[in-house]
Amino acid sequence: MPDLWLPGAERHPLTDTAPTETQYAPRVIWHITWDRNATATKPADLVPFDNLVRYFTSAGRSAAPHLLWDPFTGRTAQFYPANSRSKSVVDVAGGTRTNRTGRVCLQVETLFFPNCRVNGRTYATVRDTPAKGLDKILAWTRSWKVPDTWPMGAPTWSAKRNEHTWRTEGGHYGHSQVPENTHTDPGPMPKWPTSTTAPKPGPPPFPGRDAFGPGRTNASILLLGQQLVRRGYSKHYVVGPSRTWGEADRRNTADFQRAQGWSGSDADGYPGPQTWSRLFNN
Ligand SMILES: [Zn+2]
Repeated sequence: MPDLWLPGAERHPLTDTAPTETQYAPRVIWHITWDRNATATKPADLVPFDNLVRYFTSAGRSAAPHLLWDPFTGRTAQFYPANSRSKSVVDVAGGTRTNRTGRVCLQVETLFFPNCRVNGRTYATVRDTPAKGLDKILAWTRSWKVPDTWPMGAPTWSAKRNEHTWRTEGGHYGHSQVPENTHTDPGPMPKWPTSTTAPKPGPPPFPGRDAFGPGRTNASILLLGQQLVRRGYSKHYVVGPSRTWGEADRRNTADFQRAQGWSGSDADGYPGPQTWSRLFNN
């Protein structure tokens, strides 16, 4: 199971956890805390992070999200584990269980309101912020198999709701896109950073037929043997693969070649480029 708690988030567990409806696709609901009403001509200072932590663990606990996220510093706090519902959207009796829809239904309160002022600069939308730490949050939501998509489109300040889409599609939703709700947050959000997961390394290059055979000793023979073991073709090894070619290497390789449906000289136990590529590409 992926991490129940976002790595690096401060933990403030609320004890009234409850399961989600796991038959639905995994999703995230985005919010802004919208603590103050400011305007472009009358901006207001961003509210301190700790005030919100205090709020969501006391007076505001009935509306607590999974995560509180400060897009200016990257600081995060978490109130519910990923496999519990949280409580930041309205769920009216009957209809869809808005706080519970999904294998996970992760809710993020972004510490933000339009025209908040941070270090002397005013920000109109979350999209304008440095979105610090967003990559870490998305790595976590991806680990829970939440697709990077916005099924209702990227959020704007106007609401757009569709219960059918909500029920049938996983991905990211704004509060403005959740059925049974009236709020219009979070407004425009940053573009998702691309996944930082390193691409899987490709197979090692084929070292040439000359690398293998009686009398040869090199790293490629060991690599071949280790991969044969990994793939389950190791019954002829007595002690295991080594850098020096032996009859066991030839026999194990031949077993692998025959398992490809090859015969004759194609299954003589000496690896060629085809054998090498099949062996490492799986
Ligand atoms: Zn909201």
